Amino acid sequence: MNRFELKFFSLKATPVLTIESAEDISELVLELMVLFANDINTETNRITIEELQHNTQDLKNKIAVFSDKYKSVVPQLHQFKKFFDSLDINEPFFVYTAKELSIEQIVKLGNILQSLTGNSNFDELNKICGDYFQNIFDNYRIVTHRTDRKNFIGEGLKQKRVCRFCKKKYGEVTFKNEAHAISEALGNKCVIVNDECDVCNSLFNDKIEGHIICYLSLFLTHFGIRGKEQVPKIKGVNFEYQHHGNRETSITYKSDDVSSGVLPQTVKLNTHGKIATQNIYKSLCKFALSIIESSDIQYFEKTIDWIRTDFFAGKLPKIAILSDYNFFKWHPEMVLYIRKTDNKKLPFMVGEFQFTFQKFVFIVPFSNQDEVNFVSEDEYRVYWESFKHYNITNAWKFEDFSDSKARKVNFKINFQKN
Ligand SMILES: [Zn+2]
Repeated sequence: MNRFELKFFSLKATPVLTIESAEDISELVLELMVLFANDINTETNRITIEELQHNTQDLKNKIAVFSDKYKSVVPQLHQFKKFFDSLDINEPFFVYTAKELSIEQIVKLGNILQSLTGNSNFDELNKICGDYFQNIFDNYRIVTHRTDRKNFIGEGLKQKRVCRFCKKKYGEVTFKNEAHAISEALGNKCVIVNDECDVCNSLFNDKIEGHIICYLSLFLTHFGIRGKEQVPKIKGVNFEYQHHGNRETSITYKSDDVSSGVLPQTVKLNTHGKIATQNIYKSLCKFALSIIESSDIQYFEKTIDWIRTDFFAGKLPKIAILSDYNFFKWHPEMVLYIRKTDNKKLPFMVGEFQFTFQKFVFIVPFSNQDEVNFVSEDEYRVYWESFKHYNITNAWKFEDFSDSKARKVNFKINFQKN
């Protein structure tokens, strides 16, 4: 298989163009490179491409011709053309082939583009971002995963696998199922954890992940997020909620109140589901522990006991939740901060889970590298204030997910006249 990848970074979107074919793609790739070439030396056959480019009318025209020519070979070219249509004329963007950008690089590229498009000054922006991120960069390494294509975490060769959760080897346990690092039902198609055995996989499915899926179910249906099969339809005690495609949903609601013709302003939807919020916390930590390198698992043996067994902790640190459509994501994403210093006032690992328009920021508890549990208000405040980039807004809600008792789930929906 021949494969070529070119990535783009703009303030509007960061698409990746992947060309894959069993046929020879060298001519197509060459034509693609020429589109972005700043200099072509015909004597040495050398093409120079600068990373920083501008979306000129000329480039747009050439891209239209190029996508038309190769659309049958690379259907993705349609999206590629759309990206350039979405940019303003002369809007700057970056083109690059690097495997992965670090958070530091993303911040820097964003700042350069901001300073080129707006009135902001690059040095000023860099200083502001430095103020927000420096403490984090000094104390933490940041772990993320790819969402543009399937990626596998842990040992590739089945015969050599050891389950990161129960520590059993291939032979003692099987690794037949493809284990999703983040539940597939939440829309994760990309991140697979190799070293999760079938026993642990079904244990997590049965015991904890159902709780987070139920908790987020309304949004799964609302946004039409597909799990293994189709978008879930919710059948509750007094309602049905359904997604019809094209971002259209409907609620069928049974009510005893027969003041006919008048639509209620608020409806209370009673589901059949029961949730113990501590299992939602356990699920978030399971996702985090699936994404880290297997060499980092040694710091979380107690955390694993907690998520694998029916043991419930008394009190856990609060989870910070932010609702903001500016960060909307169609695929769930996890960013992990792992402490690299001895500063025990900061948690050893913090996770940021992005699901549709919501961010959940949580401490992974019970690490052997932590001296305090961040349950007290003072301990929590020191931690939260040192994550300065989260403090840009005060729209965060801090919620307690310590409840170990399974309780009925009800949703309340308020309608507003448009
Ligand atoms: Zn296992």
